[in-house]
Amino acid sequence: MKSKVAVVKVKDNDIYSTIENALKLIDFDYSKLKDIIIKPNLVSASDPNEGKTTSPELIDAVVRLFKIKKTGIGESIPYTAYGKEYLLKKTGINEVCNKNRIEFNQFEKMEQEIITIPNNIGKISVPKLLSKNSVINVPKLKIHLHSKIKMSCCIKNMFGCVSGIQKSLIHTKTKEKKEFFETLLLIYDKLKPILNIVDAINVYDIEPGKGNKINLGYIVVGEDGVAVDTVISKLISINEDKIALLKIAKELKIGISNINDIEILGEDIDKIKTKFNFANRTRRKYFSIMANLRNRYISKFIKPRIKGEIEDKCIDECPTKSIERKSINYKTCIKCEHCLYTSNNIYFENNVLTKIRNILHKKSNL
Ligand code: SF4
Repeated sequence: MKSKVAVVKVKDNDIYSTIENALKLIDFDYSKLKDIIIKPNLVSASDPNEGKTTSPELIDAVVRLFKIKKTGIGESIPYTAYGKEYLLKKTGINEVCNKNRIEFNQFEKMEQEIITIPNNIGKISVPKLLSKNSVINVPKLKIHLHSKIKMSCCIKNMFGCVSGIQKSLIHTKTKEKKEFFETLLLIYDKLKPILNIVDAINVYDIEPGKGNKINLGYIVVGEDGVAVDTVISKLISINEDKIALLKIAKELKIGISNINDIEILGEDIDKIKTKFNFANRTRRKYFSIMANLRNRYISKFIKPRIKGEIEDKCIDECPTKSIERKSINYKTCIKCEHCLYTSNNIYFENNVLTKIRNILHKKSNL
């Protein structure tokens, strides 16, 4: 049977009815839902108009649509976001949570579990609640400056489930070569969301916040995130074989990335596909150097440090059992940051490091 993906135009700003209609088109079975965790893209503490994060109006509509179940929003807080409160305020998520009286789950704070990736990366820590709940993946469609990633959508958004600064370690260890894409796909496959709802309403060409804001006006919905990303690649006129994550998904046989095996419902994709411009070589190179520097800096210098005796809870809950009463085993620590929330005697950085981090973040301009 073909994988169903619905592409639906938002009319009269009615995002709620658009998603509802898309769910009908793909015959989504609500009865298989457990309690729900909505995973948006909150990669940066920026205004939603900059096109870097999922629209709060869309997240609000998803919350209201699924309120028959216990629902929460969850994300790992990026190291470069200047803290949870600031991130939630800037991205409009605070308002969504308050209005709907639902909880925001910071992934680093939640109890962790280890998933094993069968390559050099090995152990990765993610919050336990992801395997206990139904995950609804709500990515923002973005043009990406990395020449092999090209676009950020369903597969890449699930990388945000990885707690703490492990993400920087993974970028650095894999040098963003083939192993990086394999790791992202394996994470997506292990945490497989039950549903993907893509915010493809306002999308910048070239790069978020910098290029031309294009009012595409679509919401794309499907149960298989790889199939959804494949349809999106058509929508923005990129050959799927030029997108590393889709090419490697085919090799690893994860999801459906052959367009002939996908039933596209709603709009006629050939009639609505849009050509996007991409950043020039110099900008891409600059981005890659700065992002690399930032990730190396984070992976090398930011680590848990002890300022007193460590409490039992913290020792028990370290997912890699790297903590003892007065010491940390840095060889096994994977920098998930969970200990920061289970101990009063662990800190991660000092003021000088924070200042360097902020400068690198501004320069990398992610
Ligand atoms: S020591 Fe802290 S950061 Fe390292 S793995 Fe354990 S809980 Fe995570």
